[in-house]
Amino acid sequence: MEPQGWLPLLLRLGLMWPLGAPSEPRLRVFVVPHSHMDVGWLHTVQESMQAYVTNVYNTVVEELTLEKKRRFIAVEQEYFRLWWDGVASDEQKGQVHQLVAEGRLEFVLGGQVMHDEAVTHFDDQILQLTEGHGFLYETLGVRPQFSWQVDSFGASATTPTLFALAGFNAHVISRIDYNMKEAMQYKRELQFVWRGSRSLSAQQEIFTHVLDQFGYCSSHLPTTTLEGFNWDGKPVFPRQHGDYLYPSMGMPVNEDTVPVHSSSIAINVLARASWFQTAHILWPWGCDREFFNASQQFANMDIIMEYINNNTSEFSFSMEYATLGDYFRAVHSDQVAWQVRDHHDFLPYSSDKYHAWTGFYASRSGLKMLARRASTLLYAGESMFTRYMLLALHPNLDPAWGLQQLQQLRWAVSEVQHHDAITGTHALKVDDMFVEHLSTGMQGVHTLMASIIQDRSPAHSACSLSAGPEPGGRLVVVYNPLAWTITTIITLTVDFPSVRVTDVSGRPVPAQVQRSKELPSAYDLHVLTTIPGLSYQHYSIRPSRSSQEDTGETEPSVASTQQFAVRLRRRGRRMGQSLVPVVNDCYIIFLDLDTNLMHSIWERQSNQKVQVTQQFMEYHVNSHFNQDQISDNYVFRPDGRAEPAWEAVRMEIMAGPLVTEIRQYFYREVDDSEPTFAIYSRLAHRPQGSDGELLCHRIEQEYRVGPLELNREAILRTSTDLNTGQVLYSDNNGYQMQRRPYRQDTWNTIAQNYYPLVQSAFIQDRRSRLVLLSEQAHGVSSQGNGQVEVMLHRRLWNNDKWALDNDLTLNDSSVVHQVLWLLMGPWTLTSGLHQRSGLALQHRPVVMLREMNGEVGGPFSAPVITAPGWNGSWKQKAVMLPSSVHLQILSIPGWKYSSNHTEHLQTLRKDQNREAKADLRRVLLRLQHLYEVDQDPVLSQPVTLNLQSVLRGLGSVVSVEERSLTGTWDVSEMHRWTWSTQNPHRHRGKFNHPSPPLGGPNITIYPKEIRTFFIHFQEQ
Ligand SMILES: [Zn+2]
Repeated sequence: MEPQGWLPLLLRLGLMWPLGAPSEPRLRVFVVPHSHMDVGWLHTVQESMQAYVTNVYNTVVEELTLEKKRRFIAVEQEYFRLWWDGVASDEQKGQVHQLVAEGRLEFVLGGQVMHDEAVTHFDDQILQLTEGHGFLYETLGVRPQFSWQVDSFGASATTPTLFALAGFNAHVISRIDYNMKEAMQYKRELQFVWRGSRSLSAQQEIFTHVLDQFGYCSSHLPTTTLEGFNWDGKPVFPRQHGDYLYPSMGMPVNEDTVPVHSSSIAINVLARASWFQTAHILWPWGCDREFFNASQQFANMDIIMEYINNNTSEFSFSMEYATLGDYFRAVHSDQVAWQVRDHHDFLPYSSDKYHAWTGFYASRSGLKMLARRASTLLYAGESMFTRYMLLALHPNLDPAWGLQQLQQLRWAVSEVQHHDAITGTHALKVDDMFVEHLSTGMQGVHTLMASIIQDRSPAHSACSLSAGPEPGGRLVVVYNPLAWTITTIITLTVDFPSVRVTDVSGRPVPAQVQRSKELPSAYDLHVLTTIPGLSYQHYSIRPSRSSQEDTGETEPSVASTQQFAVRLRRRGRRMGQSLVPVVNDCYIIFLDLDTNLMHSIWERQSNQKVQVTQQFMEYHVNSHFNQDQISDNYVFRPDGRAEPAWEAVRMEIMAGPLVTEIRQYFYREVDDSEPTFAIYSRLAHRPQGSDGELLCHRIEQEYRVGPLELNREAILRTSTDLNTGQVLYSDNNGYQMQRRPYRQDTWNTIAQNYYPLVQSAFIQDRRSRLVLLSEQAHGVSSQGNGQVEVMLHRRLWNNDKWALDNDLTLNDSSVVHQVLWLLMGPWTLTSGLHQRSGLALQHRPVVMLREMNGEVGGPFSAPVITAPGWNGSWKQKAVMLPSSVHLQILSIPGWKYSSNHTEHLQTLRKDQNREAKADLRRVLLRLQHLYEVDQDPVLSQPVTLNLQSVLRGLGSVVSVEERSLTGTWDVSEMHRWTWSTQNPHRHRGKFNHPSPPLGGPNITIYPKEIRTFFIHFQEQ
């Protein structure tokens, strides 16, 4: 997009803003100094600290202290925290307190990172904000009130809701579709009030500012200075040549050159002024890795600004250093009636006609999975630790150590939400860093969980071992982290085919053994389990002595295997002539023996049959950088339509009383010995009398994909006879659904119709809906009527020199194992099951194994702790919520601050360096209503809860405080700015929910609400 010529603009502006007296120019330019500091992109966090981040804070604090008019906004808290804890002197800390108090240094966004908005789950977005906000509030007493999401690739409609709940007054985004931005600039619609949720409506709206075409970088301005007003030079990273040691001074700023610099700014300012409705111009000053030489930066800009401000009659505007808050206060005071935007998001993001940034939805799929598994492990670890801490006795575990294990994983999960992390758009060494941080954090939480189990395992678990320890026997502890009863099947790998599974009272448990799908010498043991909310089940697994011996105990059934002949793709057989059914209470899956592919699914309750066929396909991409556009870590740019990626398919069916598994192996070539792709589909058989509604109503699928050939992007395409009109529904961050009609595009239609799938997507017609639930992020699209395809894996290599030099490539030769669950049925059925089934996939029970000969083993090894005198009298009580309310978090954050704001500020003033103790009695509780207003006649109803009664299983509640999303505000004291709008407000309920009174903490939670509380329990 070319910048507009300035002369006509100047004329136009002259008409729009008649100049007042020379001393009072109408146009005010707010120069907002900032440095965009990626938390891992081309360089690791440690390298970045060394090369520039440390100097950003050192020099900015010094330069701001020197000159009162200067300002700076700080964004990424992971870096600030590393500087504060590891670098800053007491003097610098004092200066920061002073600068913050005077509003000269402003923290915006305040998350650990600037998170990606497309492929992140909103639980993780909240976590990373909470971690950053908790630190800032505890350390400085400040609460960010403005966002700065300026580099995330597209903007989600979940974000405005979350930021409103966190107490923000305005939201800044930048990377939206280039055509749309151009149109918005032209119509002066870059600012609006955004109602991100259709259920919450006006209640959680937020004023939103889209940065104009120049984005957040002053280096992107067309100017006469090469540096784009960034005079820092280039930071020196380890192993780099030292050519960039010195500041870049292509055109020094002095008396002679200041008019040239100033007129560059003037041209830019006047162009920008034509795109906004008020006479206040946001002028972001900085870019990636700037301000590590802040003295040079400010010294030069001081000269230019002074020159302009001394000549306002010539320039017709004034310039001032500003924080984001200064700018938004000015805009807010203008009293414009703003346009309202509804709950539609800004995805996908395209930067030009060939650059649809839809590839990153599936880049580094393995990291995307690890990030989510780390997050769900953390979720389980948090509530396990909280339950454990609320017990009267916890004799063998140091709470500070436990908190440290959780803290490490909280930070690792927060870090990977960065917009160059979970997106897969980073260099290889940075990938290693993310994986290492996540793995270390997960190991710590595994150890914590094992210690908790060890410490609290009831003595009666020994009952099941009454036969005495046997080699190879195991104690299995299963924890349900959800606050509902779940019935599900857990799968363990065992190395013996003949086993006995018993519960704590020695009774046999429904189980099934079958040959492992991937390990030739091992067996999959499926065990049916029903576990109340936040509770444990214990099982013992022992190898049978011998199959002949009559033990009087029931052994798990062994599944029977049916093998089918290989079918070739090109054989041109008739299809659908020979079908084999796989049946449970809810579905009949028909498999086509002519093709070995799925043929159809019959939903039994509604008696509806839908044709469903699945196959793996690949997009081929160009690898010559200069010949055509390429696919890379960011961009998806296929050569043409997807083609089948297999020639032959083999099928087997393992049928048993608990589960039937269909295994389909897809071979790239007819005579390949190993399949490149596989689908393992499971249908569970609900035992009589069990409450397995969700279990019955899903087809669980696991895929094996890879290794891919170079420059292939692999998809699973599901084709149905649903008449969908090619409309796809996909989620925003697991929070809400977006309708995605197919859009024709002259240049790039396939890629422009890809969307992120974070937790769910569906297609539907009048009769039926097919829902896909996912464990991790993927790309999703509907490229034909009745079709939905999920991009599972990408392997790309090209000759782009910049990417090669920076090791930012995607030659990903890994084999990935991914999970999707399918739900099928009428809208009424699937919309009721959709959310809860998604959570059942996200938060599957945690399974821990312990060797029975006394050694703690399996994947969760921990130090062996003996607990003399532990009599096993501990009784667990379930924690149960209504079906439409989800326990989004139950944790002990360990914050040191008082929840009384005045008291907290007084403490900070008294002694800034005081080492306060972590509050281990404050429990953070967040509840979410899962349904939209009109989604389900019953489940969409507001729910009234008595917190004392629902939390009884944890202890006796003595106080409840309602807080802002990230915990830093008492909601009754949080007064967000209201913005005038062109549409009348449509409020529902009250703006602020008063804190529930003691003794009767009843709360009513409305559709899509997320409510956060601090709970204090009675000391036992
Ligand atoms: Zn960035």
